[in-house]
Amino acid sequence: MALTLTAATWTQRSPVGPILNDVRSGSLISGQQACHLIRVSDEGLPTLLDAALEAKQRFKPDVITYSRKVFIPLTNLCRDYCGYCIFRRDPGQPGAHTMTPDQVLEVARAGEKLGCTEALFSLGDKPELVFPEMRETLRRLGYRSTLRYLEAMCELVLRETHLLPHPNPGLLSAEWITRLAAVSPSMGLMLETTSTSLLEPGAAHDNAPDKLPARRLRTIEEAGRQNVSFTTGLLIGIGETPEDRVDTLLAIRDLHHRYGHIQEVIIQNFRTKPDIPMRDWPEPTQGEMLRTIAVARLLMPDVNLQAPPNLSAPYYDQLLCWTRESTTGAASRLSRPISSIRKSPGLILKN
Ligand code: SF4
Repeated sequence: MALTLTAATWTQRSPVGPILNDVRSGSLISGQQACHLIRVSDEGLPTLLDAALEAKQRFKPDVITYSRKVFIPLTNLCRDYCGYCIFRRDPGQPGAHTMTPDQVLEVARAGEKLGCTEALFSLGDKPELVFPEMRETLRRLGYRSTLRYLEAMCELVLRETHLLPHPNPGLLSAEWITRLAAVSPSMGLMLETTSTSLLEPGAAHDNAPDKLPARRLRTIEEAGRQNVSFTTGLLIGIGETPEDRVDTLLAIRDLHHRYGHIQEVIIQNFRTKPDIPMRDWPEPTQGEMLRTIAVARLLMPDVNLQAPPNLSAPYYDQLLCWTRESTTGAASRLSRPISSIRKSPGLILKN
């Protein structure tokens, strides 16, 4: 006779059942428990998602937050070569570009007209250290470094528009966090992973000196010391293990407990593209994404989580329905993710 296992009976029988019962009674899960949950079987996944959804509903019931932001790719030159990156270029490559101040203002004003409130500055990390072409571009623009140019562009956007700059320039010293905080209310750096094995030859970060986990943690910690609101997150599917994902989430949780400055944790999934070094790498499955989001929610029940909708196609609707975690709104992609959320019954959109 076939046996139908309900969520309730599964919770009682499974070794993860007691963990989820603890969560329901309000306890925080430990790292060991999170490692157990992130490898939950397909059979147990609905129960894990239910527990995570309950935690989300206690935090912000039926509310999906998003930011009306316009994307400003200040420069796509970068001294790092991450195996999955579709953004970076070397000087002279098709598409290599550093925006002029006029272009920055033009994009910011176009975003403002569309109702954006945030200018998201994305850029490669310190390209002038390896490319004489970038040093020459900066010299022509009148700046000694990419960070000085970024600072001036944040100040320009603040002065000339109603947008709030949010820079993502890579690693930052204490001094640069102070300087950028003077021209932007928040900033960001993806921790991505705490796994140092991704720095080994042939791995995703083997030619990316700025992806040393300890250095990224130092930047995020320094932002905390200076009380700067900070966005960070993890990138899944680039060679790390499920336990590495938990370790990365724990590192973020620890910093947030110490400084209270993490405004949002992004859970980003690797997507393959034909022209990247990792083009033959398998993408993480929908199940891996769901397990990571659910465990992140249980580890950090009172932190905003974000799953980028453009990277979750074609299953973003299911992701939203099962996790109800937040999204992002970029002017170039405003219509699709937002309309997808609007179709979801019972959800309230807040920006
Ligand atoms: S640091 Fe890595 S992910 Fe970021 S722009 Fe450079 S190559 Fe791309």
